[in-house]
Parts: sequence; C-alpha cells; structure tokens
Amino acid sequence: MATLEDIHSPFDGAVVGQVPVSTLADVNDAIGNAVKGAELWRRTPAHVRSAIMLKAAQLADDRQELIAQIISSENGKSLVEARGEASRSGEIIRLGAFEGSQLYGTTLPLDANKGTGLEKLGFTIRQPVGVVVAISPFNYPALLVLHKLAPALGSGNSVVLKPARATPLTAIAIAQCFYDAGLPEGVLTVLTGSGTLLGDALVSDSRVRKVSFTGSTSTGTHIASIAGIKKLSLELGSSCPVVVLDDADIELAAEAVSLGGYINAGQVCISVQRVIVHEKVMADFLSALKPKVEAIKIGDPKSEATKVGTLISQAEAKRVEACIAQAVKDGGKLLTGGERSGTLIKPAIVSNVDPRSSFAQDELFGPAIAVSSATSTKEAIDLANSTAYGLGAGVFTKNVDLAIQSAREVDAGIVHINWTPLWRADLMPYGGLKASGIGKEGVRSAVEEMTEVKTIILHGRTW
Ligand code: NAP
Repeated sequence: MATLEDIHSPFDGAVVGQVPVSTLADVNDAIGNAVKGAELWRRTPAHVRSAIMLKAAQLADDRQELIAQIISSENGKSLVEARGEASRSGEIIRLGAFEGSQLYGTTLPLDANKGTGLEKLGFTIRQPVGVVVAISPFNYPALLVLHKLAPALGSGNSVVLKPARATPLTAIAIAQCFYDAGLPEGVLTVLTGSGTLLGDALVSDSRVRKVSFTGSTSTGTHIASIAGIKKLSLELGSSCPVVVLDDADIELAAEAVSLGGYINAGQVCISVQRVIVHEKVMADFLSALKPKVEAIKIGDPKSEATKVGTLISQAEAKRVEACIAQAVKDGGKLLTGGERSGTLIKPAIVSNVDPRSSFAQDELFGPAIAVSSATSTKEAIDLANSTAYGLGAGVFTKNVDLAIQSAREVDAGIVHINWTPLWRADLMPYGGLKASGIGKEGVRSAVEEMTEVKTIILHGRTW
C-alpha cells in the first residue's frame, strides 16, 4: 500500500485532499508502462486519438467548476482566477486533438542532387517521440499540465506526468478526464510526490525520449545537466520588464501593469516584475497606477469578492516580504502595499529601484513591482535587456517606429506592444530566451517539439 500525504490549503492550512507518495520503484514501473503505452498509442490512427481527445475536452468543459474549486483549494488563487484557468482546459485539449492530427511531412526534390535521377522518391514523415516526461510547477496547476498533455497525447506520445508537490489534485482531476474518455492504459500516468526524490530518475531514464519541464531556472539547469541524449523543453524563470516610453498612453499602461504585476499574487512566469518608465512621464504613471493597485481586493480565495489570493506557502510569503524590505533598505521607495498576513501579501509598488539590484534582477514571484526610470528609449531598452532572463516583455508607445524598433531589440521570447507580458493565447508560440529556457510551448509548437522527422527514401530503378 502506498503511503499517502495530505495536501493543504495555503490560505488556512485545511487538508483538501490526499495523494500517494510515489517511490523510485513507481518511477521505474510508470516508465515501463509508458513504453508499452507509447507503442500502442503511436499505432492508433490520428482520428481515433482525436475522438478520445475530444471526449476528454468535453469532460473538462463539463467539470470546469469542479476543476476551478480544486485549483483554488490547493493553490490559494482566487476562485475568480481559478475559473478563468479551468475554463481554458477543454479548448487546449481540442487544440491538441487538432494539431496532433496534422503531422505533415514534405517531399524531397532528390533529383536536384547531382548524380541522382528520377528513379528515387524521398519524403519525410513526422512521428511521435515515444515516452514524454512532463514536470509542472504549482502556479497554474491546470494550464501548465494541459500545455504538456494535450500536444503530447494528441500527437501520439505516452506521458508520465509529475505535477508540483503542492498542487497534484488538479493534475489528477485533469488526467481523470482523459481516463474517462477512454485513453488506453499506460498512455498517461500521474506520479505524485517529491521532485527532488523522483526527478533525477524520471529525466535521466534512457527510455524517455523527451522531457517537457516548466519550473525554476535552477531546477531546469539541473535537469539539463543530467538528462542525457533526449529532447528537452525548458520553460523557466524570469524577471519580465515593461517599458513605458514618453509618448505612451499612460492610463492604458497603468491599467495593464495593475493587472500584469499582481494576477495570481505575482506568481506567474510572465508577471510584470520591472517597470522602466521614461523620466518625463514617471510622475503621471505612478499617480495613475497607485490607486489601481490599492483597489485590488486580496483575501479568502473562495470569497467571490476576492480578486487575488494567497502565495503558495507561508515560507514563500515570508521570502517575498523580506525581498520588499531589502529593496527599501537598498534605496527603493515603498509607495503602497507589502504588508503580510499569513500567506497574503498586499500588492506593492516600489519606486526608485536600482535596476541592477537583486529586486530587479532576480525573479521575485510575488505581488510587487520594481519601478525604475530611464532618460531615453535606448537606455530603457538596455535596462529591459539587463537581466539574465528573457521570457516576456511589454513596451508602451504610440510611435510605430519605436514599436518596431523595440520589438526587434528587446531580448524576450514574447514581446507585447501596448500591453504587458501577462497575456497568452494558448495557440501562440510561448517560451523564453537566455536563462528563461529553451524550446517553445503553445500547442502547435509543442507538437513539433514532441514529434520527430524521419526521412524516407524509396530506391527505384530507371525504366
Ligand atoms: P520548481 O521548484 O523548479 O518545481 C517545478 C517542478 O519541478 C515541480 O514539479 C517540482 O517538484 C519539480 N522538481 C523539483 N526538483 C526536481 C528535480 N531535481 N528534477 C526534476 N523535477 C524536479 O518550480 P516551482 O517553484 O514549482 O515554480 C515556480 C517557477 O516556475 C518559477 O521560477 C517560474 O518562473 C517558473 N515557471 C515558468 C514558466 C514558463 O513558462 N517559463 C511557467 C510557470 C512557471 P516538487 O514540487 O515536488 O518539488
């Protein structure tokens, strides 16, 4: 009998569920079953896979409210935000069903190669890689699991999923939609338990052909060092900048930052962490932003009035509180927020932040933004590019020349003009540069990364 562990609400510590604590023996069994599952699933015609996926999507739609309640209970995000997250589940699965059935190849003009005639025929086919290990973080326990499961299963792979230890119940509820839709045995296994204990065995196993990881840059770096020869997608940390140029629509920029810096208590890889404002519009920007941030209602995640809920744990809330205090010690000015009550932190704005300080450079993953000033567009873009990361960025300007120049010059995998990085359509390519990772998610891109191209040459004879 497996040992069980309790899963707690970050808001009040209540036990909200129990899951098995998987062992290294379970990892070995799960990968063994996934090898058999992959053999079966890759030989299943795409239209049959697609029909099962579409059933799973319908079940995810039907269970939206249940999934939202589970997300909010174990993650601490407000029910309002959890409902938004859960509502995307069915659509992501449908995208996976579609993109996974579009595995096209190309024909090869072999006769263009000197010495080769028309007696040969060459083409490529795209096939699933086999066993995919998917490892996900706590902050979007449905969305980030689905961005791995939907493309992997849609394109004919089997998956061993290791969700974050803090948020396994959502992953199980989502997996249940696939099981109830008729996914064959071995095609999807969820392993709950500790990443530190199970991670190395999962990612270094040579039967695994692809690791799709979303989490911190430090864990991603470790995975890259031990994974061996297999495909890797690493969606990692960030310190996303927003640049407000002197011709920007200040009201729009303030509105967008008041959302993008604080949604999910700032625990989003594409959260606004740094705002670099042209000095000419700094005063206007801060006076537009402050009341909007102060209006964000935090509290009990299950209350319909709460906009933003808790951080994932007491330890994380204390860490973020200490980072804000340090930023102030280092010369920053706390304009509002920062007070902690248990796992809740009042949304904070720290202005006058030295852009080279740790508060700007290192990932905060909490509900606070660092505001710094720039004297020119060039300086603002240089500052935006000054961290180790490069996931998302936003630039506010009404000038089309500056918009084009910024889009080209900002070192980020996703650049938004006149919005913040906190925006995502599930079909768009999504992934970071520099220490923010390698590879792209977004269902079509993920299907590409979870499949391999095989070249086929038919050798005929000249008539
Ligand atoms: P984390 O500590 O790196 O954990 C992520 C996952 O990795 C969890 O399932 C964790 O399991 C597992 N893990 C831990 N040690 C491992 C090991 N040695 N080998 C394999 N897996 C291991 O990250 P987190 O705190 O959950 O999430 C926050 C981070 O994720 C932030 O840095 C954020 O920016 C990043 N993130 C990035 C994106 C993106 O798209 N770029 C999206 C969301 C989040 P346990 O929970 O059991 O430790």
